[in-house]
Amino acid sequence: MNTAVAPQPAALTASDRCDRCGAQAYLRVELQTGGELLFCAHHAREHGDKIRAIAAKVQDETHKLTTSPATSPDSEF
Ligand SMILES: [Zn+2]
Repeated sequence: MNTAVAPQPAALTASDRCDRCGAQAYLRVELQTGGELLFCAHHAREHGDKIRAIAAKVQDETHKLTTSPATSPDSEF
């Protein structure tokens, strides 16, 4: 039995940080060279063309920004 291997990549969490600015990452890029990069929504947009050119696979979770704000439930701001 092997339940350790999930068929899909793990969702990005608050501990995943943009490699450029350190903000929370919403885009995970698997490079054709085998590495991995993380981008926040801002840098995902800014480097979009470049990312697509070098990526083997892109996990885009920027939709989370509009559907559920990254604030804690008890924040009233
Ligand atoms: Zn960033």
